[in-house]
Amino acid sequence: MGLEIMHEFDLIREYFTWPSDENSIALGVGDDSAICDIESGYQLVTSIDTLIAGVHFPESTSASDIAYKALAVNLSDIAAMGALPKYFTLALTVPKVDQSWLKDFSQSLKQLSEQFGVSLIGGDTTKGPLSITISIFGWVESGEALRRSGAQIGDGIYVSNTIGDAAFALWQLNNNDVPIKGCLVKLNRPTPQVDLGRALVGVGSACIDVSDGIEQDLSHILKASSVGAKIDAGKIPLTKVLVDYVKKHNDWSLVLNGGDDYELCFTVSKNNQAMLGDISKRCGVKITQIGVICESVGLEIVGAKNIGKSYQHF
Ligand code: ADP
Ligand code: MG
Repeated sequence: MGLEIMHEFDLIREYFTWPSDENSIALGVGDDSAICDIESGYQLVTSIDTLIAGVHFPESTSASDIAYKALAVNLSDIAAMGALPKYFTLALTVPKVDQSWLKDFSQSLKQLSEQFGVSLIGGDTTKGPLSITISIFGWVESGEALRRSGAQIGDGIYVSNTIGDAAFALWQLNNNDVPIKGCLVKLNRPTPQVDLGRALVGVGSACIDVSDGIEQDLSHILKASSVGAKIDAGKIPLTKVLVDYVKKHNDWSLVLNGGDDYELCFTVSKNNQAMLGDISKRCGVKITQIGVICESVGLEIVGAKNIGKSYQHF
């Protein structure tokens, strides 16, 4: 089929319909709505995120990176709740029918969805400035989701892997520098911490994914839990390039306010902290304590100068 003359329904069949072996899907793509069976003892967990060209990714971003990130950020929200991702829907707005773009987009989306066992069950396709909205649906054992509101005084505060890598890559790009490969991968292809989120069910007291900067995201936990926290900037796990950057520029903003890492920040009571070593091994994720929850109001950060402001959407 030639450009622009591909019919909407052919486009959906060609690029957004693929078989799934998920047997809880009673009806997938093709009808007015999808139907899924939910196992008893589980709650449905759902989240939605929109990516707009020129706002959430540079116009030059490849179709496959866009698809990856659109699904990965949604998987990360499900991970932060400790839920198991099951299904997603896709609202895609494209300026024109560019089959090579659609092919790359669809292949990348399919690959990541298969990696995380999450099935595309429906969507909407429209013409307009490029924008991608994904709604995701997961399951969690009833009453067991990791909420932002569960942190208790005395709990340890932890993060997965390293913080600030994505912000560092973006800083390099903005300074016309060639980004360090490992950091660029975290910016374009962050790994949603689904296994870690699942492992923290029944272990963690509160959890959030770091999308807007650790200072702002941890503050969300504090506010929702009506507690304060003291963290030590020097304990935040950093890759070598970030350690060097902080030393050279005496600037903590990329570490504390840089977004897009999609690592998990979570709290764990003293009683459960001994389990973290095993969880770290099992999930292949580094887990580091960066502070403690305390009674005082707000977030106290020791050992950091020149903290900026975290990402504001408006
Ligand atoms: P309706 O007019 O009832 O909204 P549509 O014509 O928008 O239906 O879509 C037809 C079917 O294709 C629906 O099952 C819908 O969920 C699915 N669909 C549409 N666009 C997409 C997409 N980009 N990805 C996956 N499924 C899609
Ligand atoms: Mg529709």
